[in-house]
Amino acid sequence: MTADRVPLLDLQVQRGQIGDAIEKALSRVLEHGRFVNGPEVEQLEDELAEFTGSRHVVACSSGTDAIVLALMALDIGPGDAVAVPSFTFAATAGAVVLAGATPIFADSLATAFDIDAAGLAAAHTLASKAGLHLRAVIAVDLFGQPADYDAVRAAAAALGLAVIGDAAQSVGAYQNGVAVGCLADITTASFYPSKPLGCYGDGGAMFTADEAVAARLRSLREHGMGSHRYEHVRVGMNGRLDTFQAAVLLEKLKIFPREIAERDRLARRYSDALVGVVEVPAVRSGSSSVWAQYTIVCDDRDGLAASLAAAGVQSAVHYPMPLHEQVAFRAYPAIGPLPNAERHARRVLSVPMHAYLDERSQDRVIEAVLAGSR
Ligand SMILES: *Cc1c(COP(=O)(O)O)cnc(C)c1O
Repeated sequence: MTADRVPLLDLQVQRGQIGDAIEKALSRVLEHGRFVNGPEVEQLEDELAEFTGSRHVVACSSGTDAIVLALMALDIGPGDAVAVPSFTFAATAGAVVLAGATPIFADSLATAFDIDAAGLAAAHTLASKAGLHLRAVIAVDLFGQPADYDAVRAAAAALGLAVIGDAAQSVGAYQNGVAVGCLADITTASFYPSKPLGCYGDGGAMFTADEAVAARLRSLREHGMGSHRYEHVRVGMNGRLDTFQAAVLLEKLKIFPREIAERDRLARRYSDALVGVVEVPAVRSGSSSVWAQYTIVCDDRDGLAASLAAAGVQSAVHYPMPLHEQVAFRAYPAIGPLPNAERHARRVLSVPMHAYLDERSQDRVIEAVLAGSR
């Protein structure tokens, strides 16, 4: 009945369009042979700085390493705590543990997927009682829309916290005319293949307006290097982006604005057709989303997922279990019950979203959601 499936994501259509340019770019890297710290890496940093308006951009090995490096650059480690949302991908909290600090889980907003800044004061009290120093909050731009940075920055300022923006899913989005990359003290990005701006392997970047922080990030991603190669002034890691990935990203960045517009068009089409049937994602006034996921909310999520599968439409749950309930993180404190995180995890469903989804497939997704919600 359904000969072809509508996949959640299809990277091959994009490859059909820019494959030749990417192969030429990769050949240039093979020719010059600077596979690590090649000229494409610095060019990518410059172009990302221009794209976002961020003063400093430091490319790195992954979105996870970007968060670890950001914490290290802020000197956050053992004895420190960092507030994180429980409803996010594991790397947000995992990076805190990798840096030697303690994550404190906070709830999400009731009607949006990002952290509820009202929980930061409780996180501060909890940390103090445990003999920890709450140093920062990581706001996550889940599914492509910036977190509520006005609220997060205000609460963080009152408590003396640094703000890290986990923008693994949101590079290219805006809030009140300010681009992602300039909304937090340090913003971290991922270029994992399935992210809106993805490479053909692992990659990431850090954005900051602070020159001293940028210098520390550069040193930390290169074994804590000082002024020359074999001088080490701090303990760092190998956190570099390789040159091939930078070359891929330079080509993808050229078409990224057009792709964002296409994703936005698709999101609007979905929302127009599905509003009132399921809860459609709301974009905050003054914000834009790059639609890393188009995530709907409904009571019988598993039933809807099953009927989509029967209709040949792929869907996915981002994310089925909040981190405070995961085996890996259960031992870390939460500010209290986290009802919104738990409710989101039970009710969310992401449907196919990418810049090259043809209209027939779009219609199939819409019809399948309408049929499955009856
Ligand atoms: C993908 C992702 C990360 C991790 O990025 P990697 O490049 O896969 O290490 C971190 N946080 C969020 C919210 C993500 O979606």
